[in-house]
Formats: sequence, structure tokens, C-alpha cells
Amino acid sequence: DQIAEFCGEQEAKAKRSRACENQIKMAGFPFRKSLDTFDFDFQPSIDKEQIMELATMRFVENRENVVFLGTPGVGKTHLAVALGMIAASNRYSTHYFNCHELISILNKAQYENRLEEKLKVLSKYRVLIIDEIGYLPMDIQGANLFFQLITRRYEKNTTIFTSNKAFSAWDEVFSDVTIASAILDRILHHCQVISIKGESYRLKERKELMRERQKRINTLMNE
Ligand code: ADP
Ligand code: MG
Repeated sequence: DQIAEFCGEQEAKAKRSRACENQIKMAGFPFRKSLDTFDFDFQPSIDKEQIMELATMRFVENRENVVFLGTPGVGKTHLAVALGMIAASNRYSTHYFNCHELISILNKAQYENRLEEKLKVLSKYRVLIIDEIGYLPMDIQGANLFFQLITRRYEKNTTIFTSNKAFSAWDEVFSDVTIASAILDRILHHCQVISIKGESYRLKERKELMRERQKRINTLMNE
């Protein structure tokens, strides 16, 4: 009986972990990143406690949003994906989209007369990640579709955004002041904003590589 119970437990465990793995696979992350591999010492403007609080998923339960702001390479996508991985592992339906890709999907849906259906699906994710707002300009049509999605998700489900543009520049991002302020209004109503001010981690890695290379050259020259 004990053995049977043990096997049952193991089976349930395996089932749970398969379900987690499926949820992660379906989320469409560009890469797998965790908070364990994030070097908080390198980015002191980030409050580690705040990130660890986000990792408890209370913000998902409270249907709050998170916005990561900062210049390229400071870790916005890494942190957004790491939180998304935790959400997916906890069986919250989760999906990652690059903002430009998301607008293309909405445009296509509208063109094919199934915008309503698409918006319905997209508004149901418990956690939606919209990465890289502002890297590419959006036309009025795109901004309108984006606004519709945000309105659908408002106070219902959690959205995690990342952007390299300060909120003051979002008028230009959405190419319309009225739409931009309506979008910002809804996003920021229940939201934690994490502004990352620091150096690019990509640049740090490049610098280290260059230093290593220089060291090797120096050794060779001295031989
Ligand atoms: P952003 O989205 O802000 O442009 P990313 O999150 O894509 O930047 O980070 C760029 C690369 O550097 C990624 O491979 C990411 O994992 C890594 N990275 C960024 N910040 C850190 C950090 N503080 N610790 C560890 N890796 C980091
Ligand atoms: Mg990024």
C-alpha cells in the first residue's frame, strides 16, 4: 500500500512537472531565463526585494501590471521572461510577445475579420508579456489595436511591459497623444514601474571579451 501510495505520488509529481513544462513551452519565450542567473550586483538601481516580491506572484493574483523601463541591455527582457517562467511554472496561462509581432498578429486578425476572436483569446491570458514597446514606431491603426487589447485586459489580467522609451516619449511611440494617454492611463492604474538605470550587460560581456583577448595578445607578444 505504501509503495502504491509512493508510486501514485511520484506519478502525480511527474504529471505536474509535465504540465509546467507544457505551460512554459506554450508561452513562446524567446529564451529561458531565471532570476537565479540575474546578477543584481551589476544593476544596483534595481531593488532586489521588489523583484523577489514579484516572484511570489502576488501581483498576478492582484491583477497588477509591471513595466520595465531602461536603455538596451539592462536586463528588461531577462527579468520579464524570468517572471513569466515563474508564472508558467505555477500554471498561470502565460504568453510572451514582442510588441511589433503582437501588432502584426492583431492587424492580420482584423484583415481576416477575426479580430474579436483574437482579442478574446489574448485578453484571457493570466500573464501577458509585451516586450520592446517603442523600438519600432506604430501607426494609428496599430496604436488603436494595441489600445483595444489593453482595454480588454484592464483590471482583469496581468500584463508585463518592457520599453526603452520613457513614458513621456510614448506619445511618439503610439503616434497619437490621445491614444497614448488613454493607454498609459489604463496600464499605470494598477502597476509597478521598474526603471533600470545602468550599463548594458551585453557591453560588459563584450568588454570582458576584449580584455581577455588583449591579455592573450600581450602574453604572446612577451613570449
Ligand atoms: P534588455 O531587454 O534590457 O535590452 P536583456 O534582458 O535582453 O536586455 O539582456 C541582455 C543580455 O544580458 C541577456 O542575455 C541577459 O540575460 C543578460 N543580462 C542582462 N542583465 C543581466 C544581469 N544583471 N545579470 C545577468 N545577465 C544579464
Ligand atoms: Mg529586451
